[in-house]
Amino acid sequence: MIPEIEKASTAEIKTFQEEKLKETIKYLNENSPFYKRFFKENGIQISEIKTLEDLQKIPVTTKDHLQKFNNDFICVSKSEIIDYVTTSGTLGDPVTFALTDKDLERLAYNEAISFACCGIGKEDTLQLMTTMDRRFMAGLAYFLGARKLGSGIIRVGSGIPELQWDSILKFKPTYLITVPSFLLKLIEYAQQHDIDLKNTGVKAAICIGEPIREQDFSLNILAKKIIKDWDIELFSTYASTEMSTAFNECEIHKGGHHHPGLIIAEILDENNIPVPEGEVGELTITTLGVEAMPLLRFKTGDMVQAYTLPCKCGRNTLRLGPVVGRKKQMIKYKGTTLYPPAMYNILNDFSGIESYVIEVFHNELGTDEILIKIASSTISEELLLEIKDHFRAKLRVAPKIEFASSQDIEVIRFPPLSRKPVDLIDRRL
Ligand SMILES: [Zn+2]
Repeated sequence: MIPEIEKASTAEIKTFQEEKLKETIKYLNENSPFYKRFFKENGIQISEIKTLEDLQKIPVTTKDHLQKFNNDFICVSKSEIIDYVTTSGTLGDPVTFALTDKDLERLAYNEAISFACCGIGKEDTLQLMTTMDRRFMAGLAYFLGARKLGSGIIRVGSGIPELQWDSILKFKPTYLITVPSFLLKLIEYAQQHDIDLKNTGVKAAICIGEPIREQDFSLNILAKKIIKDWDIELFSTYASTEMSTAFNECEIHKGGHHHPGLIIAEILDENNIPVPEGEVGELTITTLGVEAMPLLRFKTGDMVQAYTLPCKCGRNTLRLGPVVGRKKQMIKYKGTTLYPPAMYNILNDFSGIESYVIEVFHNELGTDEILIKIASSTISEELLLEIKDHFRAKLRVAPKIEFASSQDIEVIRFPPLSRKPVDLIDRRL
């Protein structure tokens, strides 16, 4: 189930997207209170927006806009709205998204072609290990996508390894949809309860929420830990409520595929200009075919690298590499740009490190400083040097590292208002 346009040439894909873009701009100008005003305030003549390059004439939409003018983004009357979801706002107010019947159909189609990217077909059964309620979009999208593909789906929800295994053994799902670190919990449970991991019938897992690959597409430490004990294929998927679209890996595992019928993807620099090919920039999206809450040039905050060469799977669409980090967590350190996930990867690699926390702050010169606090039962100069060497080899710079007690680190990792432990304390904000 590969849409024809995804196998077309890049030139054909571009022309196809430009037609969709014109429709979208016209729709926004007629139906969106926010964009009607936005076009007027910024002197945008919508008849002048014809090509993907013309998008650069339009200022970007930010999370701030969404938070301040949430209701003005809605293009339909209340009676047209079927489903309400909210994005989890870690900073500021959460944003509400509304979906019409047509939007739910679009969401189903998106997930069906994304599942198909991972080789899922009608004969497969999926076990859904994420929540479907709590105003989240993802779980609902998975259910609708499976239904559209004709695949079976078992809605177990998140957590409870015992119930997950009961379902796996009873219904023999071929694919799991899960946060990858939860697979480690399932492995542990299986090992404690004599469940044979070689004969589960599970072929693969669709991994959400956490990265499973390094920037060169090799499996990261978490993924290696999983497949060491449980030999299943791991597929990465990247999506968000704002995009209402997923970028899923195909069987070649070289980035998440773009679906040109559903979204326009730009990779922009700090001045909102497209970055040169092969460079990291902020993913900025324009949704296509969305009825209730379409977005135009929305800056996602996720830093990614795009790959444009045709893929061996037969799709010619752009692919996104693993998310390098969040834009607001970007650290400028000794002439290098760093993101926390790259540092976590290095630290997680050391079995001698029991826990750690990274602190980022401005020094007296106003530039970024990094201090990594590490707890270890083997406090030694050798370990410190070894970690620093690793940093230099992988990131070209070595931040300040000091040893601390695990109690001290736990105190830092649980700030008073946080419900989850944090690995990064950003004191620059
Ligand atoms: Zn592919």
